[in-house]
Amino acid sequence: MERTDEKPHYHIRWSGRTALDWESFATRAEAEANANQLRRRGETYTIEEHNQSCPRCRDAMKVKSASSNEASV
Ligand SMILES: [Zn+2]
Repeated sequence: MERTDEKPHYHIRWSGRTALDWESFATRAEAEANANQLRRRGETYTIEEHNQSCPRCRDAMKVKSASSNEASV
């Protein structure tokens, strides 16, 4: 599947964690609102902007399509 839109999206990066949060958001405000809800006391985060070559989403997509091929859930 090819997508031509190059809209960025946003991920939450929690302090002290190496991986980005898997969830992606269309806007920075949305990501921030979500992060504020999920945030634990004393935890900090930054919002990162990513484009379609985002490694986090590519990984998620790979896992998803691999498991849907097996379809044994
Ligand atoms: Zn992403």
